[in-house]
Amino acid sequence: MGRITINNVRKEYDSDAGTICAVEDVSLNVADGEFLTIVGPSGSGKSTLLRMIAGLEDITGGEIKIGDTIINNIAPQNRGVAMVFQNYALYPHMSVRQNMSYGLKLTTDLGKEEISRRVEDTAEMMGIGDLLDKKPNNLSGGQQQRVATGRAIVRQPDVFLFDEPLSNLDAKLRLHMRTELQRIQEDLETTSVYVTHDQTEAMTMSDRIVILSDGSIQQVGTPAEVYAQPTNQFVADFIGSPSMNFFDVRLEHGVLHGEDFEYEIPPELATTVRENRQSNDLVLGIRPEHISVDTEGKDTIEATLEVLEHEGSDNYLYLSKSETEWTVRVDGNTRFEPGESVEFTLPADHLHIFDAETGENLVLDEAASTETDDSSVTA
Ligand code: ADP
Repeated sequence: MGRITINNVRKEYDSDAGTICAVEDVSLNVADGEFLTIVGPSGSGKSTLLRMIAGLEDITGGEIKIGDTIINNIAPQNRGVAMVFQNYALYPHMSVRQNMSYGLKLTTDLGKEEISRRVEDTAEMMGIGDLLDKKPNNLSGGQQQRVATGRAIVRQPDVFLFDEPLSNLDAKLRLHMRTELQRIQEDLETTSVYVTHDQTEAMTMSDRIVILSDGSIQQVGTPAEVYAQPTNQFVADFIGSPSMNFFDVRLEHGVLHGEDFEYEIPPELATTVRENRQSNDLVLGIRPEHISVDTEGKDTIEATLEVLEHEGSDNYLYLSKSETEWTVRVDGNTRFEPGESVEFTLPADHLHIFDAETGENLVLDEAASTETDDSSVTA
């Protein structure tokens, strides 16, 4: 069983500057067979959390279970996990075959023939069957990545741990390996925890995503949930590219007053905001694809097109109105010229309103939102 239970896990490092809390009371469940991605900016504690599951870092507080076993004090090689590292960590003096069989020789009592068979089957599956007698230095980055993944697969672990495994590959290969890793994980149904700073990777590969900031979980949910229902401004900003538009606003008599615009919101939305807010300083958020240039003349805002970015099927308009900037996604066939004045509207059902002090999303759809320690997902 590859179910992972993380209860109030904490990691502190002692440094000359004092104690650093890298992971702060994280609780999280990963279902058996699930593909869970931990995403967050550099320094948010992603690797530390993964390395605690792997047994490469001591746990300062709390407990981690795999299946029903508490693994806090179990040696890394006995945890039933296999890790794939960013730098592949292959032994340069060993052939691919030796790299892939080394862990099996060390941690199992499988016979020579069984090890050989497993290595060859896995190498075949990874498309590296013809590289078995080569040394890592003679392989491309993509081939080394396959060997590193193959080395993890061959051990048939309960859990795969991936630490930014694709970040050393070029963009095209990264895209290809993304789908390949997904396919392998779906075939093997092995519980996987994948760390990346790249939100696109997280959004495209995972069953669920954990967003970390400063060692704390900000939100746990499916890619669709964290995109449509971000619990706070940090998540709203981190997930999605180009990112959500944000504007400082105040709410007075049902009207949002921004720096350069005023916008009347539906009364029920205004009531929700008034009931939930801590202060009168608010942040209005709306994604580029939700701003509508198809206005029919109602409640419009007008701004000047500064830059037009072609992305093939879509175009991005970068608009400005004195101090305020807006990013708007439009259909690739819509014609606009830089310098032109563009009218647009903000559909109320796509507005996010955050408390400027706490960052909390005040208009979260409770029914659609998830709890941060949700354990109800089964793979
Ligand atoms: P991420 O993987 O999200 O980039 P890390 O888990 O590597 O973040 O680091 C989280 C925090 O812990 C950072 O502030 C980092 O500087 C600190 N940290 C990580 N490893 C050590 C260490 N061995 N000693 C001291 N501080 C560390």
